[in-house]
Amino acid sequence: MVRQCVHCTSQRAVLRRPKTAEPLCRECFYAALEQEVHETISAARLFKPGERVAVAASGGKDSTVLAHMLTTLNARHGYGLDLFLLSIDEGISGYRDDSLETVKRNEAQYQIPLHVFSYKDLYGWTMDEIVAAVGTKSNCTFCGVFRRQALDRGAALVGADKIATGHNADDVAETVLLNILRGDVPRLGRCANIITGEDSPLPRVKPFKYTYEKEIVMYAYFKKLDYFSTECIYSPFAARGFAREFVKDLEAARPRAIVDLIRSAEQFRVPGGSGSGSSSTGGKAVALPQPGNCQRCGYISSQPVCKACILLEGLNKGLPRLGVSRTRRTPKGPAAEAAAAADAAAANGLPAAAGAAADAPLARGQAGTCCAGQGSCSGSSSRQPAQPCCAGGTCSSSLPAADGAAAASAPAAAAAAAADTNGGGGFAYLQNKAAIASHPSARQLAD
Ligand SMILES: [Zn+2]
Ligand SMILES: [Zn+2]
Repeated sequence: MVRQCVHCTSQRAVLRRPKTAEPLCRECFYAALEQEVHETISAARLFKPGERVAVAASGGKDSTVLAHMLTTLNARHGYGLDLFLLSIDEGISGYRDDSLETVKRNEAQYQIPLHVFSYKDLYGWTMDEIVAAVGTKSNCTFCGVFRRQALDRGAALVGADKIATGHNADDVAETVLLNILRGDVPRLGRCANIITGEDSPLPRVKPFKYTYEKEIVMYAYFKKLDYFSTECIYSPFAARGFAREFVKDLEAARPRAIVDLIRSAEQFRVPGGSGSGSSSTGGKAVALPQPGNCQRCGYISSQPVCKACILLEGLNKGLPRLGVSRTRRTPKGPAAEAAAAADAAAANGLPAAAGAAADAPLARGQAGTCCAGQGSCSGSSSRQPAQPCCAGGTCSSSLPAADGAAAASAPAAAAAAAADTNGGGGFAYLQNKAAIASHPSARQLAD
């Protein structure tokens, strides 16, 4: 028996919608998805008429579908937006040059102008040159820090009012989960925001916040959209590793799990704060540091000099580890790599989350620091299990970080702070595949 589309009841169903399990025909699927995104945009008032909106375009499925859909909805509903594509060329031969060709075709297909800014222009280095200098272990730290700034700078240079990114519901659910696992109360309170940087000159919006990744893929597939699907050659592992797989498992058991995770975070309120400027520690409100500006480049930064400038200084002086790791003796292994990435991402122009450190679970301590009998040492390697204090040996303290500024420099804080900027790369205390898969920049950067 041929199953009919449950919406129009006249056409044959060609798919079962992942989010609702409804059998739909192609046209009804397009209509349902487009209407949902339109309702998301309208309900959250993402755009105002006349705004100039940069669509962050990587050539991948999310940003390609976003460009297609915003163009369609802008015309259909008269948003009055001045849309353009904004791409960052990291200078990765065999990857970015191919995906940029896709974006160039998108420019013609969607009839919206494309602006490309390269790392070489903005920083003087391509990623290929950076990898040649630093190797393939910390390269993603550089890429992640540089890309976030590059999008903002590029958008500002071409007079954008807003940046729209292709982050989908799966991405947001993963971030919610990572923040729960980290005990990062302040970020949990705001990671599901559909608009970030609302009071900054260049807010970022996520029109696909409730759109399932599977449906984006289906939409692109059935519409035969032209997108690029190869992974970055420097990031062979799946982004966000463990959390990503877990969200997929939850979805398989119950498709609503993704949207429920997002709704949970939306309901979350930080006691004593708005969820964006303070955190609570045992009921006490703690003010987060207010971001200032980098003394060198002027980019928003909670430190006197922003992370990009520190990384760049290291590269230019031939000291590529500068700014990547803060510990003198860097332990080896995937967890250590994750911690280093976290350290590097921590100061990426965002509040360093002093409050978050106190809330964070025990993380790998700093190598070489004994807990002096106050806690349980985790051994000289981050992979060794916790054990009684070594009483002054060369162990790693597993004490929770103290309050305030000191806490912000501890790896726990760094791991926590990395959450928003690098897609979970700082997940140091999960010494397993999450750490192996940690990758600061595999996904487009977002809050
Ligand atoms: Zn139909
Ligand atoms: Zn700077």
